[in-house]
Amino acid sequence: MGENMSKRLKLVTGSESEMEERSFINPFPDREHREHREHREQGLSGTPSAAEHSGANEPLDAGGKISDAFQKKVQSKIKDLLQQMEEGLKTADPHDFSTYTGWTGIALLYLQLYRVTQEASHLQRALDYVKRALRNLNGRRVTFLCGDGGPLAVGAVVHHHLKNQTESQECLTKLLQLQRSVLSPDSDIPDELLYGRAGYLYALLYVSKEIGPDAVDETTIAKVVTAILESGKNLSKEEKKAERCPLLYEWHKKQYVGAAHGLAGIYYMLLQPSAKVSQDTLNELLRPSVDYVRHKKFRSGNYPSSLSNETDRLVHWCHGAPGVLHMLIMAHKVFRDEKYLRDAAECGEVIWQRGLLRKGYGLCHGTAGNGYAFLSLYHATQDKKYLYRACKFAEWCLDYGTHGCRIPDRPYSLFEGMAGAIHYLSDVIQPEGSCFPAFEL
Ligand SMILES: [Zn+2]
Repeated sequence: MGENMSKRLKLVTGSESEMEERSFINPFPDREHREHREHREQGLSGTPSAAEHSGANEPLDAGGKISDAFQKKVQSKIKDLLQQMEEGLKTADPHDFSTYTGWTGIALLYLQLYRVTQEASHLQRALDYVKRALRNLNGRRVTFLCGDGGPLAVGAVVHHHLKNQTESQECLTKLLQLQRSVLSPDSDIPDELLYGRAGYLYALLYVSKEIGPDAVDETTIAKVVTAILESGKNLSKEEKKAERCPLLYEWHKKQYVGAAHGLAGIYYMLLQPSAKVSQDTLNELLRPSVDYVRHKKFRSGNYPSSLSNETDRLVHWCHGAPGVLHMLIMAHKVFRDEKYLRDAAECGEVIWQRGLLRKGYGLCHGTAGNGYAFLSLYHATQDKKYLYRACKFAEWCLDYGTHGCRIPDRPYSLFEGMAGAIHYLSDVIQPEGSCFPAFEL
């Protein structure tokens, strides 16, 4: 027993130190604490000058708006990082066309910069990069993040903005042709977001949102949605989980939970109003499945990476609370039940404590991706506490490269690296319209 005990103790300390290793201790005071402290300081000194001085560096002004000073700091860092990114991309893989690590991701960043600044030069850059991507399609995958669906969808949107209707339509036609392999009954395509049907569904919903509802016919969207639903029902029956989790999915034989490969990412897409899933299906299939994931919550408020994994380790968009949170917020919008928002807020606490990641500043498993969770919570609640937290994670990204984080394999890319952090910074200073790229709609 003594041995067992010490083993158990070792396990506990092992996982704790591992947890520490994955993230930095959050050095930022929370907003309320800061305010209390300032009030105390004011009371002690009798003059507000000290408090005013410390407030000058804060991202939000007294009215809870992003301060001018913070805006300027972020804008100047965006310029600086863009230059570094452009320089670094000179040695990037010329054939990587993907949104996740390649040229389409960079095009998407410039499209975002065009959206927030309306500078035509950004749209031109987006065109240059997406053209580079479109020359390298390989017909292997269909999704927005890792397949041909990304460059075709982004190409359609960029050409649409430039009023090149023929080129835009050409991209759309090719995008729609990819549905064959998505719908084919004997295709072995998975359902998750990175490589599967949900990632193709996102491409369709993205062009509908950006170009207009006529860009993609409703029947195509309905067919893709049905294929995802059927696949989930089948696995659920096979695994005898039809009662508890009527829509079950796996990727490489594992039932993942998170946004990138798992249930949360798939349910999130199916819950989109533009996916037009029927009210009955929402109530009978999606709601119990979302609740099934909810019940997998760890005591910390975090979520496991897969249904068979019991360790509370990863706090990434791809695995863990930062991805599941988006599903919960969408479930709250659709089912109007406060419990979903409460769970999302719990995710927010875990991310605040463990979300400054040693893996870097990117979207998939980095600090910027985790920061988007606070922006979504801010949209859902209008609580300035979350905007403050989003700004603090942005502040961390302003010191890009100084924390000794791991350098990702594609250090300048949208999902692993610098382009993702720039995307996040550009969203934080105009938070009302912020949108996690290639995921939120
Ligand atoms: Zn990841």
